[in-house]
Amino acid sequence: MSRIAVVGGGIAGISAAATLAADGHEVAVFERESQLGYHASGRSAAVFEQNYGNATIRAFNRATAPVLTSMNALAPRSILLIAGADEAHSFKADVADLDMSEIPVAEARNRVPILSEKVAFAATSMSASDIDTDAVLQQFAKAARAHGARIETGTCVEAISPGSGLRVAGSEVSADIVVNAAGAWADDMAGLAGVPAVGLQPNRRSIAPLPAPGGHDVRDWPMLLGTGESWYAKPDAGSWIVSPAEEDPVAPMDAWADDMVLAEGLDRYAAFVTEPVTRVETNWAGLRTFAPDRSLVIGEDPLAPGFFWLAGQGGYGFQTCAGAALHLSALISGQPSPLGQEAALAVSPERFRQGQA
Ligand SMILES: Cc1cc2nc3c(=O)[nH]c(=O)nc-3n(C[C@H](O)[C@H](O)[C@H](O)COP(=O)(O)OP(=O)(O)OC[C@H]3O[C@@H](n4cnc5c(N)ncnc54)[C@H](O)[C@@H]3O)c2cc1C
Repeated sequence: MSRIAVVGGGIAGISAAATLAADGHEVAVFERESQLGYHASGRSAAVFEQNYGNATIRAFNRATAPVLTSMNALAPRSILLIAGADEAHSFKADVADLDMSEIPVAEARNRVPILSEKVAFAATSMSASDIDTDAVLQQFAKAARAHGARIETGTCVEAISPGSGLRVAGSEVSADIVVNAAGAWADDMAGLAGVPAVGLQPNRRSIAPLPAPGGHDVRDWPMLLGTGESWYAKPDAGSWIVSPAEEDPVAPMDAWADDMVLAEGLDRYAAFVTEPVTRVETNWAGLRTFAPDRSLVIGEDPLAPGFFWLAGQGGYGFQTCAGAALHLSALISGQPSPLGQEAALAVSPERFRQGQA
C-alpha cells in the first residue's frame, strides 16, 4: 500500500482516486478550485464515441465503456455526419475513420427536419452515447471517499518533491507517490517537481447553447457533425448546443469563448440548416490538452521516481477515464495492466525521455 497524493480534482484525478483507494492505497486529492470539475471536466460536450481518437485512445475507450455503463451514465445517441457537395473527399475519410454507414440525404432529413439544401452527403453511426458527466464525477468522488480517500477543494499544490510529497497551502504533505492529474497545468506541475515538461498543449474549444431550432423537440435528434470536425451540434438538456470545434492553442487558463471564433463556427453550422441562429443563450469554453502524439501520458516519469503522470486527455477525458485509472492503479500496484503491453508503452512518459536520462 502506498500513500498517494493526487494533484487535480477533474475527472482524471477523481477517477484515479476512486480506483487507487479501492485498490487499498491511502489517497489524498488536492484541487485548487472550490469545486470538483471546475475546468475542462465541467465544460465537455459529454459524448462517448468508441471510434473517436487514435488506436491507443480507442483501447482506453473500450476499457472505460463497461465502467460507465455500470454507473448508468451512458444513454445512446446516434451521430449524423453531413457534408456539402464540395466536401466529398473529407466526408469519405470521416466515414471510414468513424466506421459510419452512408445514408440517403432524404433519410437524414427525416431524422433531422431542419437540414438545408446544402447537405449533399450523410452518414450515420449508432456507436455513440451521451455521458452523464456530472454523475460520473460524483459517483467516482463518492466511491473514493467510501474507500477512505480524502478530497480537498480550494487547496493549491505549491511545491512537489517526488518520492516524499508536496506542499499545499503552506503545509507539507508526505506521500510516496504524486499523481499529476492537473489537466492543462500538468506540465506546470512537472516544473514544480523539477521534472521536464512533456510538451502538453492546451487547446481552447467553445460551445454555445441555442434555443431548440424552430421549436422542435430535439431530445431524440442525433448529434450532427460537420466533416473534418469543422463544427458539431447536439441536444443537451432540452436545448441545442453548437460548437465551432476549434482547436486553438492557448496557455493554461480559466478559458472563455472568443466571440469571433464562435460566430464563424455558428456560420458553418447555419449553412447546413434551415433554421437561422437568432439567439445564443450563453456560451462557454474549456481546454482540451494534448500530448504531441495525441495519446494519453500515464506512468512514472523515468527522471523522477514517485512522480506519475495522468495527463494529455485531450478531447477524450471522460471516455477514457476508467481505463486510464485502471491502468494507472495497475502500474502503481505492480500488477499487469488490463490495457495490455502495447497500450502501456504507447502512453508511457518514457516516450518523451529518449536521450534525456
Ligand atoms: C468543449 C469541450 C468538449 C469536450 N467534449 C468531450 C466529450 O464529448 N467527451 C470526452 O470524453 N471528453 C470531452 N472533452 C475533454 C474532457 O473534458 C477532458 O479531457 C477532461 O475533462 C480532462 O480532465 P482532467 O481531469 O485531466 O482536467 P481538468 O478537468 O481540467 O482538471 C484538472 C484540475 O487540476 C487542477 N489544478 C491545476 N493546478 C493545480 C494545483 N497547483 N493545485 C491543485 N489543483 C490544481 C485544476 O484546477 C483542475 O480542476 C471536452 C473538452 C472540452 C473543453
